[in-house]
Amino acid sequence: MSLKPNPESKKKFGPATRLVHAGRDPSEQHGFVNTPIYRGSTVLFPTYDDLQHRRGRYTYGTHGTPTSDALAEAWSEIAGAAGTVATPSGLAALSIGLMAAVSAGDHLLVTDSAYRPTRIFCDEVLKRFGVETTYYDPLIGAGIAKLMRDNTRAVLVEAPGSLTFEMQDVPAIAEAAHARDACVIMDNTWATPLLFPPHERGVDIAVEAGTKYLSGGSDLLLGLTSANARYWPALNRTYHQFSVCAGPEDMFLAMRGLRTMGLRLREHGRQGLEIARWLQGRPEVLRVLHPALPEDPGHAIWKRDFAGASGLFGVILRPVPEKAVAAMLDGLELFGMGFSWGGFESLCIPFDCTPFRTATRWAPGGPGLRFHIGLEDVEDLKTDLAAGFTRLRKAAGDI
Ligand SMILES: *Cc1c(COP(=O)(O)O)cnc(C)c1O
Repeated sequence: MSLKPNPESKKKFGPATRLVHAGRDPSEQHGFVNTPIYRGSTVLFPTYDDLQHRRGRYTYGTHGTPTSDALAEAWSEIAGAAGTVATPSGLAALSIGLMAAVSAGDHLLVTDSAYRPTRIFCDEVLKRFGVETTYYDPLIGAGIAKLMRDNTRAVLVEAPGSLTFEMQDVPAIAEAAHARDACVIMDNTWATPLLFPPHERGVDIAVEAGTKYLSGGSDLLLGLTSANARYWPALNRTYHQFSVCAGPEDMFLAMRGLRTMGLRLREHGRQGLEIARWLQGRPEVLRVLHPALPEDPGHAIWKRDFAGASGLFGVILRPVPEKAVAAMLDGLELFGMGFSWGGFESLCIPFDCTPFRTATRWAPGGPGLRFHIGLEDVEDLKTDLAAGFTRLRKAAGDI
């Protein structure tokens, strides 16, 4: 085997091969398989003239290292992007993507189903700098054209929606946005580029919370922002102006996770769908929010645009008192309660979007639960949940 990949052969490889080989060149690492962690601030220049002209591949720790280059190169190849930057969290990746696209006096359209901290960033930070945000119905599709103003510079999409899992018609929204020369920014954390290739579908700037499936182990914080050729110069400049570079150890761990991400995602998706179907059959469940289920209102779009599902979905329970939900969740043996997701372990949290929706009303008809299905034996997960439902019914006075 040649230690040096042939750059011309890259295109013909499938996604699994790309995950294994992207951003890796053992011939530059003395034959070692992985690019190591470069820790460093100062980079020495050999001569006065080199320093004055900032000559050399690396010039300072925040401007890039072999570790950050390896991750960025790998992600750009996997996402089909012109360039990628790595940030210390998913939220930082989102904020940098937004800052690269909008300026004072601009108008921004954000889906009402966006990740809550994205809303807070728009409502509090962008507002202070003179950017006005309007929230829109996630199901708007091509109808977004009616909300576009002369100063609408960017449209933020997220599919499926955070907590509520509505599917968005991203290509239709992108077409309408591009007709007015607005930038399309997407939070693509749920699908990753393996299940939804963002730039191929019209997204200009795509964000991935690497904290989730790149890690796969609930052990790191990282964000990736990628851009197409049109927006890459602005994104790269903004990133360096804010200097929000990710830590070298987290970047190394993200690359380690990347190599097995396809395999893990497939299993999270398969087990998640099995649990989702099982939950559909439970009498305590009113509705399952999972776009890969044929009964889901977003199923047709999911089927058209997505190559699969990850392991995160929601459930609406039939109305029960809050103490019944607490009794169910408190006694779970395998499902943990906590924020974030994407690790090997299953999680379950309650959610309620009613207090912060502004463009649409969230009235699902019962309490909401969000599940992340991990890599445990699926029968053990069902047993854990079945016992939880028994506690729920007892606490509700049902049995
Ligand atoms: C977790 C998450 C983020 C933010 O990632 P952090 O690394 O926790 O900042 C952004 N978007 C979505 C959809 C997420 O689930």
